[in-house]
Amino acid sequence: MPVRTGAALRLDPVTSSPRHLATLTYIPPMTDSCLFCKIASGAVPVTLIAQNDHAVAFRDIAPKAPVHVLVIPRRHIPSIAQATDQAELGAVAALAAEVARQEGLEQAGYRVVTNTGEDGGQSVAHLHFHVLGGRAMGWPPG
Ligand code: AMP
Repeated sequence: MPVRTGAALRLDPVTSSPRHLATLTYIPPMTDSCLFCKIASGAVPVTLIAQNDHAVAFRDIAPKAPVHVLVIPRRHIPSIAQATDQAELGAVAALAAEVARQEGLEQAGYRVVTNTGEDGGQSVAHLHFHVLGGRAMGWPPG
């Protein structure tokens, strides 16, 4: 039977192409090459601050503030752009707030930020929230 071509078979190049859908839904598994996957599994040692079922918090190796903690999902998610599981995201955000409480930042305030992609200044491709505090933060960020 000949293959029919026409409007019904065309894919919208932006919203319906398989490549686009794959980009939205595919989350690579934990990889040997991902530094934060290694940290989450305990293969790379860090100063652990807190953890829950979905997330791990540890001190940033190059702190940009008196308190600088990274909160990551245990599962490999490249950035917030690929994060779709609300329970998992909620657990990561809740751990960030718990870290701030634990570090005594609640009264003075603090900043939680997740750099995303090239323009966002993301250097490690595993979702992470920076919890920054202990000094006044500037705005707008650089
Ligand atoms: P970003 O640039 O937003 O992707 O943040 C990545 C962060 O990971 C930076 O603040 C780094 O200092 C931090 N970092 C990189 N390697 C390590 C490590 N081995 N342990 C703790 N923090 C790290």
